[in-house]
Parts: sequence; structure tokens; C-alpha cells
Amino acid sequence: MDLFDLIDLTGHLLLPAPAEPHCHLDKVLLGGPGSLGGPGGDDGRGGLDTAVAAWYATRKTISRADVRDRALRAALELVAGGATAIRTHVDVGVTTGLVLVEALTDVRELIGDRLDLQIVAFPDFPLRGPAGADNRSLLVDALAAGADVVGGAPYRDEDPSACLDILMNTAAARESPVDLHVDETLDPRSNTLGELAEWVLRTGFPHAVTASHCVSLGTQPPDVVARTAARVAQAGISVVACPQTNLYLQARNHPLPVPRGLTALAQLRAAGVTVAGGGDNARDPFNPLGRFDPMETASLLVLAGHLTPHSAYDAVSHAARTAMGLPTTPVEPGAPAELLAVRADTIEAAMANAAADRLVFHRGRLVCRTRHERFFPLSARPVAEPGSRRPAEGTA
Ligand SMILES: [Zn+2]
Repeated sequence: MDLFDLIDLTGHLLLPAPAEPHCHLDKVLLGGPGSLGGPGGDDGRGGLDTAVAAWYATRKTISRADVRDRALRAALELVAGGATAIRTHVDVGVTTGLVLVEALTDVRELIGDRLDLQIVAFPDFPLRGPAGADNRSLLVDALAAGADVVGGAPYRDEDPSACLDILMNTAAARESPVDLHVDETLDPRSNTLGELAEWVLRTGFPHAVTASHCVSLGTQPPDVVARTAARVAQAGISVVACPQTNLYLQARNHPLPVPRGLTALAQLRAAGVTVAGGGDNARDPFNPLGRFDPMETASLLVLAGHLTPHSAYDAVSHAARTAMGLPTTPVEPGAPAELLAVRADTIEAAMANAAADRLVFHRGRLVCRTRHERFFPLSARPVAEPGSRRPAEGTA
């Protein structure tokens, strides 16, 4: 696009571009849980562990080219939806080595001019002791190979505190931001979030820290939640809620009443914590659906998380960028031009309709335009066959 091109945005709402702060582009589009042995069925069987097992069985067989192609398709879908910054977690460990990270660096090379792509190295277990030596060194190798952020899921280790220490010390030594999978469980005893906040406050860890999921916080007594939320705010930790996957995976087969797999959104926000929304999984062993659209995440934050539409949009735009360590991008002269123009007159309409007509701008340049055509014929008259004056048989 020439710098002086004019684009007519009549009928569009101009918004700060969304960002996707939490997804797994190495897993996307593998096929849903049903085809891969993940959780599914109308009986509500399975859950996160079933999904992880299905993914572990699948990932052994996938190639760099396969990961690159799926990730590329998903990333372009996200850009079309408006996301001009994406953070993806990518598995690293003895099973797959660095193949998945390399596939994502390929994607960054191919379409890095259309978006900012951040790669979080998500290491396998074990990480502790002599048995974890290879996984620990692969985590460091992944950072050298192009990963930007230290990830991991310390709450799933038998010793979460020791695992947290390893991950945070690795990040400190590499001067890397951190984005951990935290307490993705309805078990209220899981409180890695509180530990993470204390770790950051105790050490003065100077890099950006993000805690994703934080599901158990939504199951704890109000005084515990308030205390943890205050410490998380003090530590400057951002929280990313992932409604699609956590509404699907958590509380399957749970006796009534069924809890929601969402973090304590209102309490975190009231404490001053930056709370973002992420799409997490899409059409993989963890989630049979997902359409790579931040508007979908935002609408779930409204319906299931009880945010207002404006706060929900903030969670998938400004807050998402903050959680990714990126500057926010208000729609005003002089601000970085990360913009989404969507055919709608209000934010509610944009979210409710998931309007397809969108123009997406990254660093001041148009990077994607989607046009949606709808046509109502004046009447449903029979269609004539070519060369005939008579209506075709059976047409209407
Ligand atoms: Zn995740």
C-alpha cells in the first residue's frame, strides 16, 4: 500500500488491533479430540490429562514441515481476525528436540512482516534432578534457536516449587520474560500463582512475567483470592484467561453444580492486575472448535466471565499486548498504527456478529482485508437453463 493511499472506512468501527497472547500453534488444526483420543463424547469423559496424552502420542510423528504449514495457516487466520501480535507456546524436550521451535521460526521468517510473533519455549518434564538435565539444556537451546520467552507448567510437577525455581532461574540467567501455565486445574490446593508472585517480589525479577490460565484461583475462598490477587498486582504479573479451552476441558464429568474453568476475573481486575484473554487451542486434542478470532475469546469473556463488552475487548487488545510486553496502541494520531477496522457500528455488534468484513493494519500497513458478500435475490424465481426459455427441471 502506498503511504498516501486513502481507504474508505465508511460503515466500519476503527479499533486498536487485537493481540493473541496465548495459543499453541504447534498443536492447532491436528483434528479434534475425537479423532485423536482426546476428551470428548456426550458423556463428558476425559479432561486436560486425556488431551495431553493424546497430544504426546501425536507429536512423536509430526514433522517440521507439517507444524510449519498448520501454524502458518492458523497465524494467517489470526491476522485476518485482526491480531497483529501473537504469542505461541511451543513444546521443547527430549521427544521432539527443537523441531517445533524451528517450525515456528520458519513461520516468523515467512510472515514476520504481517505480525509480531513471539515464541514461548514450553519444556517437557522432567525438569528436576539428573533426569531433567536434557530437558533443561534443550530449554536453553530453544532460547538460542529463536524462542523469546521461558514457559513451562510447574504446577504439574510433583514438586511445583522446585520446578518454578528452575524455570525462573533459567529466565533470570537468560534475561528472558516468562509465561507459565499456572494452576490449570479446579483443585483449590494448587497455588503456584501465589508462589510465583512471592518469587518475583522476593528476587526483584526484572523481566515481564505472565501467568496463563490460573483456573484454581476461581475455586478458592474469597479471602485467599483477594490476598493472592493483591500480591500478583504488586508483582506486576499479567494473567491470561483462556475461556475456550478451559470451559471445554475443566469440570468434565464433574458432579452438579458444574464449576467454570475460569480464573477469578473480577477479583484480579479489582486488584489492578492486567487480565488478558487468549484463544489457547483450536481444533486439536484440547479443543474441537476455535475459530482463531479474538472476537470469539472476547464474547466468551462476556458470556462466561461477566466482563462488559468494552472490558472484554480491552482484554484481547490492550491487556493482551501488555501481557506480551508490547506497548499499547490507542487509536490516536502518533500512536503505533496497529488497527482493526470492522464492519459494525458498536463494539457489541462487532462481537455479536463476529463481523467478517475486516481490514487489519500492522505498523501502518494494510496486512489483510476480508470482504464478505451477502445477496438476497429479489424473488426465488426458477432459473432458466442456458439456451432455453423454460425453467430448468427441479430448480426453484
Ligand atoms: Zn496453553
